[in-house]
Amino acid sequence: MLIPIPFYSCADSVRRNWESLERRVRAVADSGRFTSGPMVAELETAIAAYTGAKHAVACNNGTDALILMLKAAGIGPGDEVIVPAYTFFATVSSVLRVGAEPVIVDVLPGSYAMDPERAAAAIGPRTKAIMPAHMFSQTADLVALTELAAQHGLRLLEDSAEAIGMWVNGRHAGLWGRAGVLSFFPTKTLGGIGDAGMLITDDAELAAEVRRRRCHGQATDGAYVYEVLGWNSRCDELQAAVLLSRLETLDAEIERRAALAARYTERLAAVVDTPWLAPAKSPSNQVWYVYLIESDRRDALVEHLDAHGVGTEVYYPRSLSEQPALRDLPGASLPTPVATVASRRAVGLPLYPDLTDAQVDRVCALITDFHQGGTR
Ligand SMILES: *Cc1c(COP(=O)(O)O)cnc(C)c1O
Repeated sequence: MLIPIPFYSCADSVRRNWESLERRVRAVADSGRFTSGPMVAELETAIAAYTGAKHAVACNNGTDALILMLKAAGIGPGDEVIVPAYTFFATVSSVLRVGAEPVIVDVLPGSYAMDPERAAAAIGPRTKAIMPAHMFSQTADLVALTELAAQHGLRLLEDSAEAIGMWVNGRHAGLWGRAGVLSFFPTKTLGGIGDAGMLITDDAELAAEVRRRRCHGQATDGAYVYEVLGWNSRCDELQAAVLLSRLETLDAEIERRAALAARYTERLAAVVDTPWLAPAKSPSNQVWYVYLIESDRRDALVEHLDAHGVGTEVYYPRSLSEQPALRDLPGASLPTPVATVASRRAVGLPLYPDLTDAQVDRVCALITDFHQGGTR
């Protein structure tokens, strides 16, 4: 009997740092303080140090961090925000949540990130911000998008939820414009054992505004006094404890992910379309969060792998413009052919630090067998 290979397994990563984790969880239990306490403050300091951000504000999840970032950046009704067509739903739903209008533009083949030319063509009198997303394994073209935003006097905000550890020209993703976010959803490169997220920025005023609004809009100097309408987006002490422990081995895990990705590419490049990468920067703009391949027979391949106990994840089965919830959205009417093709062909393979070389080889052998004599 073959042992199944799940698409994702974070149990081993959590166990790896068990001693430090256990010590921190005990400290949380002993303190009796379970949300927004010293562990969360320590995580904010640690993430600020890791990314080089002047300010880091923990939230309950990455989606909340996006909503709070947009709100604090002054985005609201009457404003348009340009977003990419191939990303997680939260990139667009967060814009709608603050009452603004997303305008969905196509992505570049290969990087799956916002096409700067498509973004430029979509700028109109009501455009207030550009919000690229860094997808799967590398950053969007931040140099081009920063320039575009500056030329038109627009705010650059980053959905850097997947981008921990990605750097461009010495600056961490999320810190190119006014602000960015991180998600610590369990499958993410740095994941908790539940939900958590963070805002990162060099802008003190924006950070303070997110701090206030993540806690119902409560005045900093007055309990139960509310200055504005906010949300409940507290971060749990337990998640902060887990994330602090996992942060200790993050760089080693990022290295392991890169070795596994290289092994996949070596074995699959002649069989399917393996990931395209923009030239590497130093420190690296590439972190292997998801290893995404493309195949003309994607759906049958997924079935084949599933039948052999290998988990996959179709990121994403639809472009954002094709989402039922966005059907009547005026900003979803631009053609996005690149995203549509990707949504039919792309699939993520198992990738996590504790995946073994032998497991990668087994997945590759199954994919090679499946494509034998057939099309890519
Ligand atoms: C994961 C993710 C989010 C949302 O983060 P949550 O913590 O799940 O709310 C937003 N955008 C992108 C691109 C993501 O991958």
